[in-house]
Amino acid sequence: MQTGKVRYLRRDSVHCPEGAPCPNNDNMVLIEAYGSAGYYTGYHHVKPIPELQEGMEVEAGQMIGHIDSSGRTSTPHLHLARYTPGDSATWWQQDRGDCHWAIHGVDNFVIMPDCCPECYIGGH
Ligand SMILES: [Zn+2]
Repeated sequence: MQTGKVRYLRRDSVHCPEGAPCPNNDNMVLIEAYGSAGYYTGYHHVKPIPELQEGMEVEAGQMIGHIDSSGRTSTPHLHLARYTPGDSATWWQQDRGDCHWAIHGVDNFVIMPDCCPECYIGGH
């Protein structure tokens, strides 16, 4: 995790079964990382620890939450995303550039196709 400011949290989401609606998406922490030109880093499928709040500063190495299987997932995994600078209220919008990685285990590192089409391994 990078040093920065917590800009958004979601901690009340549950796992969404295959094909079912997924109204609450996943649990996550969005951090505006210092020294990275305003880019945001999203830690998805992570349930924030109770004491973490929006607006707090966090340091690299600090515990921010626990990996879970919230949202549409096949297995618990850490899903990292990079979002372009801008208003923290619209970080998720489609016209904001983003890039995603998912770590299911040391032998299963997935780069999503919107980031690097030739690197896509698949799964989520
Ligand atoms: Zn994911």
